Amino acid sequence: MDMEKIEGKTGAVVLAAGQGKRMQSRVQKQFMELEGKPLIWYSLQKFEESAVDEIILVTGRDEMDYCRHEIVEAYGFQKVIGVVAGGKERYHSVYEGLKALENRGISYVLIHDGARPLVSDRIIADSIEQVKRYDACVAAVPVKDTIKISDQEQYAADTPPRNLLWQVQTPQTFSYPLIYSAYKKLFSGKEYEGVTDDAMVVESMTEHRVKLILGDYQNIKVTTPEDMILAKAFLQNRESGK
Ligand code: C5P
Repeated sequence: MDMEKIEGKTGAVVLAAGQGKRMQSRVQKQFMELEGKPLIWYSLQKFEESAVDEIILVTGRDEMDYCRHEIVEAYGFQKVIGVVAGGKERYHSVYEGLKALENRGISYVLIHDGARPLVSDRIIADSIEQVKRYDACVAAVPVKDTIKISDQEQYAADTPPRNLLWQVQTPQTFSYPLIYSAYKKLFSGKEYEGVTDDAMVVESMTEHRVKLILGDYQNIKVTTPEDMILAKAFLQNRESGK
């Protein structure tokens, strides 16, 4: 008898536990106001309106109460089933988010930087569709600039062919068992450095290939003060296009 694959729920881990040092602001960037709402509101709202069933918000230990009351309750996010404390590096925070989704019947999980307020309905829908085919897919855009690899003294050492280079964004979407086991393996070994995205964890801990799917040039990560200007302009443009 053919066993039909039983599909469980789709989860999302939204990350907001970074310190945002490059923003040089007193208020952490994920809570800075953008067009009248805290920056983190935008991606939570997109996931709330999507086919995602359950959301975990990962934040700093000191921001948990603020997030629960001033974000989740205040804006009535029904799908946020937990606010958990993150860790030192992004990958520690992701692991905490994945743990919080354990035993909840999750088949697929989207991992998203809360600092990317411009994630679109289209990217989220494509990610959910494509992960069912590839089990691991990440939003990315072809690079526009020529990229150099430098040596230790900051001389150009190599110029990789531009047509093979992609700038990787989030959501990064995976079969939950695949990404969770990859993270467990990562944490069972020696401490790693320079783990800057989730695809890397799958690439280095498993044999599984990660598919690049088309993100959006507007899906920027708000990192430095000028990114706030860009994010604001993109949001206003989106509003005026309605
Ligand atoms: O470090 P970076 O600015 O690239 O962070 C990307 C995302 O990861 C942000 O949304 C940030 O809040 C989150 N992050 C986290 N925990 C950390 C570091 C970053 O949740 N320790």
